[in-house]
Amino acid sequence: MARTPFVAGNWKMNTAKASAVELAKGIAKGAPSPNDVHVGVAPPFVYLDAVGQALAGSNILLGAQDVYSEASGAFTGEVSVDQLKDLGVKFVLTGHSERRHVLNETPELIGKKAFAAYRQGLIVVHCVGEKLEERDSHQTLDVVRKQLGELGGTLDDATRLVIAYEPVWAIGTGRNASDAQAQEVHAFIRHELSKQFNATFADHVRIQYGGSMKPENARGLLGQPDVDGGLIGGASLKSDSFLAIANAAIGNR
Ligand code: PEP
Repeated sequence: MARTPFVAGNWKMNTAKASAVELAKGIAKGAPSPNDVHVGVAPPFVYLDAVGQALAGSNILLGAQDVYSEASGAFTGEVSVDQLKDLGVKFVLTGHSERRHVLNETPELIGKKAFAAYRQGLIVVHCVGEKLEERDSHQTLDVVRKQLGELGGTLDDATRLVIAYEPVWAIGTGRNASDAQAQEVHAFIRHELSKQFNATFADHVRIQYGGSMKPENARGLLGQPDVDGGLIGGASLKSDSFLAIANAAIGNR
């Protein structure tokens, strides 16, 4: 089936207010049609408002890099789904490898965050992926299966669930998965989704690849039959490289 690809930029803890706004405007100006590819950006929390305003009138989706699972209350430093929605946020990342492995988020918390965001109407981009030692010891598919299990089989609207396969060894390292490595895991993810939910659902879910994707390797990766877009870190911090990746997702399969 024809899935509209989704290319999202994860700006991580980069940019300042002025550069975030400038980057957003540059992306909005050159963005391809949403009929061809969905494009989104996830700036730091503190710039969501300013970036949202810079994107006003465009089709670029505003995203958040994280969210908390509770609705309100004494959770110092955390941000709720409603607060994000208030700023126009449409999608949220859950389970990003830096939150798993640097901030030590547990699978339970990740699952709760995904469920809270989904229940309240956001698109959930759930990130999965193995560490290098897990790949080397042939545990990739087991790791990915467990991380998909964090969703508990409850996110059943395929238009609001996106899976990002991001091998940890490829994130920010300049070493991307090969086209074949990506396709193998993406096909496995789709198969697992068809078991967790059903085949029609699995057929509709977009599965992004993330990990050192750049204009030079984007066409190959995005040309794979089960690769439906990308989650882009470093290369999303310049509008021209980010837009080149978004354009590479168009009509490429
Ligand atoms: C990411 O952090 O989601 C990512 C894919 O980063 P990079 O593109 O820099 O590897």
